[in-house]
Amino acid sequence: MAYDGKCGSSAIVAGAGIGGLAAAAALAPRFDRVVILEKDQQLGDCVRRGAAQGAHIHTLLHGGELGLEQLMPGLCDAFLSAGAVKIDVGKNFGIYDFGSWRVNRPLGLSVLQMSRPAYEAVMRKRVLEFDNVAIQTGTSVTGLSIEKGCVRGVLIKGEQEMTADLVVDARGRGGALPRDLLKNGFGEAPESVLGIAMSYVTGRFKKAQAAGEEAKAIMVRPSSPDRRYGLVSPIENGEWIISLGGRGAVEPPLELEGFFDYARMLAAPEFYEMMEGAELIGDLHSYKIPTTNWRHYDQMPAFPQHLAPLGDTIASVNPTLGQGMSVAVFHALGLAAALDKNGLDGDFCEDYFDAAMNASGAAWTMASYDDLAFPEVTGERPENFEQIAAFSRGLKLLGNDDPEIHRLSVEIAHMLHPPHLLQDDKIIGRVMQKLFESQSAA
Ligand SMILES: Cc1cc2nc3c(=O)[nH]c(=O)nc-3n(C[C@H](O)[C@H](O)[C@H](O)COP(=O)(O)OP(=O)(O)OC[C@H]3O[C@@H](n4cnc5c(N)ncnc54)[C@H](O)[C@@H]3O)c2cc1C
Repeated sequence: MAYDGKCGSSAIVAGAGIGGLAAAAALAPRFDRVVILEKDQQLGDCVRRGAAQGAHIHTLLHGGELGLEQLMPGLCDAFLSAGAVKIDVGKNFGIYDFGSWRVNRPLGLSVLQMSRPAYEAVMRKRVLEFDNVAIQTGTSVTGLSIEKGCVRGVLIKGEQEMTADLVVDARGRGGALPRDLLKNGFGEAPESVLGIAMSYVTGRFKKAQAAGEEAKAIMVRPSSPDRRYGLVSPIENGEWIISLGGRGAVEPPLELEGFFDYARMLAAPEFYEMMEGAELIGDLHSYKIPTTNWRHYDQMPAFPQHLAPLGDTIASVNPTLGQGMSVAVFHALGLAAALDKNGLDGDFCEDYFDAAMNASGAAWTMASYDDLAFPEVTGERPENFEQIAAFSRGLKLLGNDDPEIHRLSVEIAHMLHPPHLLQDDKIIGRVMQKLFESQSAA
């Protein structure tokens, strides 16, 4: 792609995770030079320290896949060549929630499933095919250099300045942007926080012999008082990745026998039946998520110009719905659109934040409704939360009967449409009717 000279000569992206790579692909056609600064020394195709969550199942939603394809045409073929497994989500992705299985039927919608390090490796290779993009590893961004309200660049190796026309902060959930803004006199961003106390344990497995050839994934989500989650998914090399989750004191064990025992206790016995006989490759890995956070940078009284936070730096939601990578991709698309409309000035910041906060907001709404159904989860509950929870239950029942509602719900879950499409009077009426029928039948 040719540089059209519109936006500036150089851009820095802090962080070479999924968000940083997507951002670099968005910036490459719009700047002379894009440098990604990554604190990890080695970026291979295995789990690394700066993205330790990469040991756990990472599903790339269909919306995220389409977004990446827009940023890097041909990327999906590259995923497939690297061993991604294509799963028909309507037909072959079994979901157990609200105490029963969702109906499976073909919906013409698929996901390309692989491990997180494998997604990253393919994306990194493709990003480096832009001849104006470089990745500098072993380089920790330690701060921002800001002059008269405008970012001039970043600080690396202590106080050494590296200048750029635009800085994208994709340092992830634990990144230091809040600290840097405070230090530079911008104050604190208002923040939405939910105390979710989730824990995950995951392993890669040799597929169980009895599993058959067809690519199938299966997910079990608990209804309170149960707290146990499970997800089996095929990935590259003919392997499975299996994640178990729990809430509060209910934690999946980090040893193999306990892992299988825990899987046996999930609400749907089909989960254990599917994974029984799978052989662990390597170790089990654990990850704990005490809180989910959405930082409203757009609501700060002042925000530095020429700075764009992106991906988990803005919001990190409970990953059970698999949204985080797709949201980062939508941020990158929003960045490209805001740059094309304004360059780096005018309404760049406002337009970028509109797009980014929309994407994060959609993910936050869906994920937090799921979390808030558990009474111990702390955070703000909408006053009509009981109605919202009943609606989700009823929508599932209606979707089981009606393929068009099923399709719409799945497309929204895959972030192809905003969730507010469901707030349609006709749909609400039919969901309520369905709930009434199911309660009368019980
Ligand atoms: C258990 C678990 C399961 C998940 N499952 C899914 C899923 O199924 N689907 C999905 O879409 N998402 C999932 N997610 C969320 C997903 O991991 C994130 O949303 C996604 O990685 C966000 O990308 P990012 O680039 O913003 O941050 P990250 O991927 O975390 O990348 C941040 C990068 O910044 C680097 N960095 C940090 N500090 C510095 C610094 N000072 N200087 C330079 N570099 C720095 C890090 O090393 C890292 O490379 C899951 C998360 C967890 C915890």
